[in-house]
Amino acid sequence: MSFLAGAAAGSEPSQGLGPVVELDQVSKTYPGGVRALREVSLKIEAGEMCAIVGPSGSGKSTMLHLIGTLDRPSSGTVRIDGFDAANLRDKQLSALRATRIGFVFQQFHLAVGQQVLDNVADGLLYTGRRGPERRALAATALARVGLDHRLDHLPHELSGGERQRVAIARAVVGEPAVLLADEPTGNLDSVAGAGVMALLHELNKAGTTVVVITHDHQIADSLPRRVSMRDGEVV
Ligand code: ADP
Repeated sequence: MSFLAGAAAGSEPSQGLGPVVELDQVSKTYPGGVRALREVSLKIEAGEMCAIVGPSGSGKSTMLHLIGTLDRPSSGTVRIDGFDAANLRDKQLSALRATRIGFVFQQFHLAVGQQVLDNVADGLLYTGRRGPERRALAATALARVGLDHRLDHLPHELSGGERQRVAIARAVVGEPAVLLADEPTGNLDSVAGAGVMALLHELNKAGTTVVVITHDHQIADSLPRRVSMRDGEVV
């Protein structure tokens, strides 16, 4: 991956051999002294589908932010697809996020006033691909999530479930090593939520590694692997 060429010594890419996500003795203390994560070690292998479950305040979002390289740990090592995040400069971290990590959030985070196709194409903005190719790949991703008949719609013209499908298409359009979903059904009714979970299962069957944060035990129980958090620790 040319974006990441020249990354500091010691962060050789795994090239699919090692775990996609590897946390080693990771702690996070926020300013003010809250210890949100306490020496968490975790490996998620390529092709897994894993729930991170636990009560509010147990450290799930903090863990997701660290896995997503949106924040840095206070101590310990975070490796994504073989890259040690601590060894990457800001630009390389951005490249890692753009090419290896797909994000889905409870609030969808679509650009208002922008057509569905462009919302998804923007998931490829920092990959060096040209506009027409971005749009072609976006159309394919939208077909995958069952929305190829909504390409020129605006987000506010879609239902909540459809908006989350658009967000998922945007997250996977670049074929990331891992898809991180933070309470992806949190804003949906149970039918739309089940549809979104079915889609995540489908993507996982097709090879995408999926990590879902949830406080919903029913959703967690439907996934092949559960990582339970309590008070900043994996229990
Ligand atoms: P969860 O996602 O399981 O609800 P979080 O990771 O959001 O848990 O929070 C874990 C702990 O860290 C909580 O006690 C929370 O109040 C605290 N926390 C989260 N983010 C911050 C922050 N930016 N600054 C200070 N404390 C934080």
